Amino acid sequence: MLDIKPYFEDDIIFSPRTPHIYPLNREMHRSILLKQALAHHQEDCTDLLLAVRMSLIATERLGQLNSPDLYVTVEGSPCLADTIQGLSRARLANPPRFTYRPAASPGRTTWRRGERVLSITARQRLEKEDFLGLSDADILEVKERKDE
Ligand SMILES: [Zn+2]
Repeated sequence: MLDIKPYFEDDIIFSPRTPHIYPLNREMHRSILLKQALAHHQEDCTDLLLAVRMSLIATERLGQLNSPDLYVTVEGSPCLADTIQGLSRARLANPPRFTYRPAASPGRTTWRRGERVLSITARQRLEKEDFLGLSDADILEVKERKDE
């Protein structure tokens, strides 16, 4: 017996087997995150762009950033922390989903959902132009592990 299912556009976009379609959707998603980030942070700064890049990767790996079971820790500048907090809607309290550790480093976000832990670290301090010319792999180190 054949199992024939209807073929929706979303299936195509999100299928890992059709990576050639994926970048269009990714670009759309990135611009939505950028708008949300600007609305929250109110400053078009370098770490806002870094936060958008990190948040896009986290969404792709772990799902919606505003999920109540998603926890995030930010190490880096107040701009990075503020933007990540805005994009994730993660509160410092009641219930606490957000942790901030001020640091002089270029920036790291650690996302936890269930047993999955995703860390995204900026390889170096970045300039605004870097975000136009460099890929995720160029500027970020992404690691994922499972906690027992
Ligand atoms: Zn800023």
